[in-house]
Amino acid sequence: MLKKLLVVVLLCTSTLSAQDYFYKKFHPFNSEIPSPEAFLGYGIGEHHTRHDLIVAYLQKLAEVSDRATLTEYGKTHEGRKLVMLTVSTPENLQNIDVLKEKHLEFTMPESNSKATPDLPIFINLAYNVHGNEPSSSEAALLTAYTFVASNNPEIINYLKNAVLFIDPTINPDGRDRHTQYANAYQGNPLVADPQDAEHNEYWPRGRTNHYWFDLNRDWLLAINPESRGKLNWYHEWYPNVVTDFHEMGSQSSYFFEPMKDNGSLDPIMPKKNYEDLNNLFAGYYAKSLDSIGSLYFTKEVFDGTYPGYGSSYPDLQGGLGLLFEQASSRGHKQTTAFGEITFPFTIRNQYTSSITTVKAAVENKELMYDYQLEFFKSGIAKAEKSKIKAYSFKTGTDKNRIKAFLDKLLIHRIKVEQTEDGFVVPTKQAQYRMVQTMFETYDKYRDSVYYDASAWSVANFFNIDYKAIGTYKPGKPVSDLKNIFPVTPINQSNYAYVIDYDDYNAVAVLNFLQQKEITVSSAFKPFTIATANGNKTFNYGSLVIPVAAQKKDSNYLYKALQQAQEEYNVPMYAVNSGFSLKGVDLGSGYISPIKKPKAALLIGDGVSSYEAGEVWHLLDTRVHMPISKLPIRNLARIDFSKYNVLVMVSGRYQLDQKTTEKIKSWVAQGNTLITIANASKWIIDQKWVKEELTKIEKDTADITIRKPYVDARENLGKNSVGGAIFKVDLDTTHPIAFGYTNEQIPVYKNNSVWLKPSKNAYATVAKYTKDPHIDGFITEENLNNFLKPSASIIISKIGGGKVIMFADNPNFRGSWYGTNRLFLNALFLGNQVNIPE
Ligand SMILES: [Zn+2]
Repeated sequence: MLKKLLVVVLLCTSTLSAQDYFYKKFHPFNSEIPSPEAFLGYGIGEHHTRHDLIVAYLQKLAEVSDRATLTEYGKTHEGRKLVMLTVSTPENLQNIDVLKEKHLEFTMPESNSKATPDLPIFINLAYNVHGNEPSSSEAALLTAYTFVASNNPEIINYLKNAVLFIDPTINPDGRDRHTQYANAYQGNPLVADPQDAEHNEYWPRGRTNHYWFDLNRDWLLAINPESRGKLNWYHEWYPNVVTDFHEMGSQSSYFFEPMKDNGSLDPIMPKKNYEDLNNLFAGYYAKSLDSIGSLYFTKEVFDGTYPGYGSSYPDLQGGLGLLFEQASSRGHKQTTAFGEITFPFTIRNQYTSSITTVKAAVENKELMYDYQLEFFKSGIAKAEKSKIKAYSFKTGTDKNRIKAFLDKLLIHRIKVEQTEDGFVVPTKQAQYRMVQTMFETYDKYRDSVYYDASAWSVANFFNIDYKAIGTYKPGKPVSDLKNIFPVTPINQSNYAYVIDYDDYNAVAVLNFLQQKEITVSSAFKPFTIATANGNKTFNYGSLVIPVAAQKKDSNYLYKALQQAQEEYNVPMYAVNSGFSLKGVDLGSGYISPIKKPKAALLIGDGVSSYEAGEVWHLLDTRVHMPISKLPIRNLARIDFSKYNVLVMVSGRYQLDQKTTEKIKSWVAQGNTLITIANASKWIIDQKWVKEELTKIEKDTADITIRKPYVDARENLGKNSVGGAIFKVDLDTTHPIAFGYTNEQIPVYKNNSVWLKPSKNAYATVAKYTKDPHIDGFITEENLNNFLKPSASIIISKIGGGKVIMFADNPNFRGSWYGTNRLFLNALFLGNQVNIPE
């Protein structure tokens, strides 16, 4: 419709409005295109804008203008749309397939392309990964309007030279949680008092997504649909420049890159990226923020070491990722030590940086393209120089865990090939740096204080027993995982079935059958038995399902097993005799029925929403088992007799005497409490159990040494374990370790919970090994005095019940497939565990 009116439209200009606070500079605007204010019915900054309205506005722009198209790249857990508005000149958009092909040549190491003036630069303006950092999505609306509606020569020039991909909300579920909150508590007149409800969100707050995951850590781990959709989009387009807008504490100003130096001594990212390019762009941001009178700082904080941020992942893909942090007005107006900070003020800074990013990228187009191609070329050159030609790992018996790891390789477009008994990942490939990221471990550092994790070798998250090899023999390329590990369909039996418990999905199968009221037993000792598929040895924890003892008939049972196998792809065997060739027979006392878990999880004020969300996510998305989330504020009136297992994750628990007694006596009646990380420390401090923490005797004569005040932050930060990977020794005969074949596995530690091994010889399930360091930063003092003497998992009695204490977080960021099983065993088999005395 508009296309016909184009000539007329170009002559029109809108009148000046209050919104000129933001974009006065870019007049004239096409009056046929509605401004955000005209569309929403309120000025940007007056309220927080709901995500559906953000999408509707971009939809409108795409409808009325030939400068924009809207695509959907995914849906959130709660079903909200993830959208991308592509903006450029009508000519560029009509020609987008050809431009894309030319652009992608710069990601091919073998190419010799040179940037030409007619090739636009591809820029991804991405906003609002943290839902309660809302200024940037509002800035996205203003940015979209500016590029779609402005006829200012400056903007027209940018459009000719750039294709913009505007992602207005990376985390719509979190954004709407906060938006609803901030609007609901908004006063009229506005209340700037920081103690007002508007500025103090309820638990779990809006930062995270539906399962309370931080999406700004998920780019590497690719667990959530928001990141998976984005990664697939990313590898289709490989933008040259990517923004990542945030907000920080209110008592601050504005931050842009360069960040603090990279923490690794030998970082994977090219120096040119974090030195030259960041400084080049910083010059532009400084100038534009100076021009509107905004203060800012650079270099002091934030590090881009962890590769899973929205501002670091693009750096590993030949682009330039850019972090921005605006002091938050958290709400519409707030008093700070520096004066009053308003929502429109925060939006204006983000908007200014958005436009400036386009300016800087366009003015350095050739440089950015040269850099992109050089990035991929240098990957190949580095791989050629490296002694490591490939990484290899075996398939083993836990195929669904391997499959989940292969999925991570493929989503990052890492080439992986199948060999006779496993897989091989060649280092000489375009994604060389991602190969390094997934497999390499570090023990030398430039820095000692990390903004986030100091270890991210994803292969260790999955307990992959991999080898770096000096010779590479190609295998068969893996592209589709759907039928990569076919299982032999289960035969019918009138006697019994046995299910292999080595597989990651075995727990989901157990739950599937228990939900159907099928009695399933666990084998506490291994055995070898004749099956319909030949003689087979079953490990500790194998699931045994006798036919005769079931409430349902043989056909119902067989059908249920077929369904479970179809859904979860786990090996299952029909058995016609209970007489074993070796080990225990099927009627043995070592094979006992598993109680169906009735699980609950404490949530609410003081509880770590990350760790709680990880438990919820694991049970929902992988096991498909419901878990009751019990709000702490209701504890006094909760009926605990409905549950037989309770999970407490890290938190600052402040339970009164009555509630404490209530939970303790519930455990004592024969139930299971699982505590994770700081919750384990907490119950020891509270003396719920007779266990201790690892301590060192402080020398009382030790005189405090005076240190420079300026070093305090750095010195204190060093002692916290920011996130590192260590080796533990597992008792694989223990029910909590059933399903594990390796005695030594990696665990993730990001706390200072040091559990002393139990005095009971049978109650320490996992202990750190003598040489436990695998990957990441830890001080010598922490390593030798605390970690080495400590346990990772211990079990302790409370009356007739028990507490299973994890020092480390087995469910970290939903990505620790290697240790998830320990937690699930605690949940499903915890009730079976006896502590022999
Ligand atoms: Zn943030």
